[in-house]
Amino acid sequence: MRKKHEKAQRRNSGPDIEFDVSNPAGMGGMKEVFFTKDRQNVVAFYHNNSKSDDRENRLEQVVYDYNPTRDGQSNAAYWSNLFCWPSEIVDHPKRGIGIVLPVYPDCFFFKEGTLKGIEKNGCWFTGISPLTRRPFRYSRVEKSERGDLRLIVEAMICLSRTIQRMHNAGLAHSDLSENNVLIDPTSGRSLVIDVDALVVTGLFPPEVLGSKGYIAPEILATRNLPIDDPKRKHPSAETDKHSLAVMIYKYLMERHPLEGKRIFIGATADEVDHLTYGSKAIYCESLENSNNRPKGDNYLPSTILGKKMADMFHRAFVDGITNPMNRPLSGEWENTLSWVSDNMVKCGNTNCDYGWFVFLNERNSKCPYCSWQSKDKIRFFEFEQESPAGWFRTAGSLVLNASVSQNLRTRIYKHHIENGAPRGPGEDSRPIADVCFMESPYPGYYLNNLSDDKMLIRNTENGYTVFHEIPPSKKLLLQEGMEIRFNSSKSNSFFRARTLFR
Ligand SMILES: [Zn+2]
Repeated sequence: MRKKHEKAQRRNSGPDIEFDVSNPAGMGGMKEVFFTKDRQNVVAFYHNNSKSDDRENRLEQVVYDYNPTRDGQSNAAYWSNLFCWPSEIVDHPKRGIGIVLPVYPDCFFFKEGTLKGIEKNGCWFTGISPLTRRPFRYSRVEKSERGDLRLIVEAMICLSRTIQRMHNAGLAHSDLSENNVLIDPTSGRSLVIDVDALVVTGLFPPEVLGSKGYIAPEILATRNLPIDDPKRKHPSAETDKHSLAVMIYKYLMERHPLEGKRIFIGATADEVDHLTYGSKAIYCESLENSNNRPKGDNYLPSTILGKKMADMFHRAFVDGITNPMNRPLSGEWENTLSWVSDNMVKCGNTNCDYGWFVFLNERNSKCPYCSWQSKDKIRFFEFEQESPAGWFRTAGSLVLNASVSQNLRTRIYKHHIENGAPRGPGEDSRPIADVCFMESPYPGYYLNNLSDDKMLIRNTENGYTVFHEIPPSKKLLLQEGMEIRFNSSKSNSFFRARTLFR
């Protein structure tokens, strides 16, 4: 096919942008999309090209004023990997106003099977097949592209962090759903797309209300009121928090949190929607109301992800249904999901669909998905931070997966030992230490000091308390009950870990 190029004029200075109209890159719900001549970007024009001052003003703000991926913004390069953010606005004499967007990175396109070349829309991972009652992930997606539970948790951490960045800037997505977030379970990455529909809090009414199953209950309850009625609720950061919680639940529990066994006899489709997702919604795992338990008899409860996660879900889908202020913040999701990731054990069954499970600090832990049980004890660290002097508080825990799968190395970062140390942009990317299995001098699990500071070990040997030092770049065999002090005496407070075998 012969290429046919058209030109659009940049709003900011610079030469016109040429794009290829012979082979459209896609047709979204609201936009027609073309590759630029160099195929590094796409240009998207709105189907409805009638001039709207509100849309133009909102776009100007989103593209120029509030854009975290622009040069000069802190960690711009980091955020440009997590958002597909429009870089500029263009005008075309016939097509009207358009936006220029980066093309999606390669990892967000399927590489194999019947889905080859298609973008990794979240529906392929969370959408439930009516035939098997399991997500499409297990039927339509090739095994090599399914990832595992730990990588999906990593992708949810990435997503929560992205939403937090947006909310901190005073923006709300307004249509957060699996359709607007691409996921790569092979690398644990997520990409928030359709950013041009963002809402600048308090400035412009949004164009959309959200997607079915993700719309916050208060929006659903008031959507039939006139647009300017003060009682009508509009998409906001509060409503995004509901959508985010739904998405995390669907990815990790493989079902919708509000869709259970409840049946509504004689109700219209609209009424069913209101009852299922509106202010009378019942969480399928509610501790107070058992009328809407998940479909099927052998469902797994979210406590398999740890009590912290189960409590977050309960807050989001019981308290948060009628009281949006109680919904967990995106930053709380990031922290809790990070705890989940740190406490995951690699399942020893190579045929396990999930590959990892959360260690609940119980003896004889089993994989809840396939019942595999480790022959050896599971080793983990419990971190404590001294603050104020003489007082220790828990900073977290970390499973040492070298103790389960000998070729797995567990890295310890500053954010593990120190409460509040940043994860994501700004984090210290150098590990402080790692733990790996070695055959010599004695077979076992060794702590390797990767920091510039010596570490101090307190251990009980033959009934006596003894101390050892690990200088930088030296190793020590880990033993049960050992206490590791990570920083030497020059610091006012110190960070320590207990080595526990269970
Ligand atoms: Zn398993």
